[in-house]
Amino acid sequence: MNLRFNRPLGWQLGLGFTLLAGICAIAAGIYLYQVRQQLGSNYTALVADVIRPQLHTALLRSTLNEFREDPQDSELIERFDNLLWRIPQHIEGISFGLSKNRFAPAEYRSSLNRLRRVEEKIPHLRQTLGEIAAGAPPDDLIQQGIAIENDLAQAYSRLSHLLHSEAAKQRIVMDRLAIGIAVLILVILLLVGGLMLLLMRLHHQHKKVLQLSLMDELTGLGNRRYVLNFAERLFEQRQRSGLPLSIAVLDLDHFKRVNDDFGHPAGDQVLKVFADSLLDEVRKADVVARLGGEEFCVLMPETDAEGALEVVERIRHRVATLSHQELGVPVGLTVSLGLATAVNHDASFDQLYSRADRALYQAKTQGRNRVVVD
Ligand code: GH3
Ligand code: MG
Ligand code: MG
Repeated sequence: MNLRFNRPLGWQLGLGFTLLAGICAIAAGIYLYQVRQQLGSNYTALVADVIRPQLHTALLRSTLNEFREDPQDSELIERFDNLLWRIPQHIEGISFGLSKNRFAPAEYRSSLNRLRRVEEKIPHLRQTLGEIAAGAPPDDLIQQGIAIENDLAQAYSRLSHLLHSEAAKQRIVMDRLAIGIAVLILVILLLVGGLMLLLMRLHHQHKKVLQLSLMDELTGLGNRRYVLNFAERLFEQRQRSGLPLSIAVLDLDHFKRVNDDFGHPAGDQVLKVFADSLLDEVRKADVVARLGGEEFCVLMPETDAEGALEVVERIRHRVATLSHQELGVPVGLTVSLGLATAVNHDASFDQLYSRADRALYQAKTQGRNRVVVD
């Protein structure tokens, strides 16, 4: 059975963080775009509010000039009256627009006060206009009209200038804000990327450490620690389920001679071939491990003595028939095996293991290349 490890946690966390950062970036972008649109359109409306009355101021001036020529012209009087009716409406619209947009009131106050003073004079002007229509002289009205036109022109021009410079300032602020947010998003993405790399590295290292602590480097099998951990759990499960559990302990015969006659590297190669043969002969559910040196074990869950004997005999036969080419040395190889199957009076895995080890000792003393069942 191969060693198995947890799924890559680093990838999952990294993916989650990246998705989150991406969603934040999109949300920030949409918000910024909307704020920019909002501010831009408010300015457009306000500037239009100021430009329109500026045109009417010019109209007031030309009407006054014409009025000077012919004060009794009813069409002129009507146009004049219409203008006087519109002026307070425009002033109201501008005041409302400025207060709604919460612009710095101090800068606009002098112009707004000027407009209010004009507004206050309008009813009197309209009354005078009525008197002229009834035949009164127009001089007073013309004089007051010119004064009002002057005040309006100055106030509107000042407001227009202030609004334009305010719009330019806001645009700069917005551009800086956009750059700030873009930098922030970039930093977040870099941090997330860095964190993801770190997590992947940590996970990789964790996996490596786990592998080193549980795996035998030469054969790639689990080591003694691995098999003991596994066996304890299997033994506890067996006690609950009552299903059989068998263990075989294997030791190569006269292995020292292989090393002595052909060198340590050749001995290593034989150990690897032996490990591969073991893996070939066991079933998927069985656990194969190297306990140390040339000693191995096979754990067989849910396997009774009869079934286990079949497996270990197969192993013994396979090893004994490995060719010189397969082994890489010009000698044959045999293995001795001790087999034990858990019975009710086995209180712990250690006891079961001791029985198998004792059987192995007997296999050695009885002449090797054999299986002894305890
Ligand atoms: P027996 O039949 O009684 O088991 O005889 P043996 O020679 O197999 O047993 P012994 O305990 O005398 O020798 C085991 C040898 O296994 C000694 C040691 O050099 C060798 N060995 C242990 N680990 C390794 C290894 O990782 N690589 C190699 N090449 N040899 C190893
Ligand atoms: Mg040996
Ligand atoms: Mg040995």
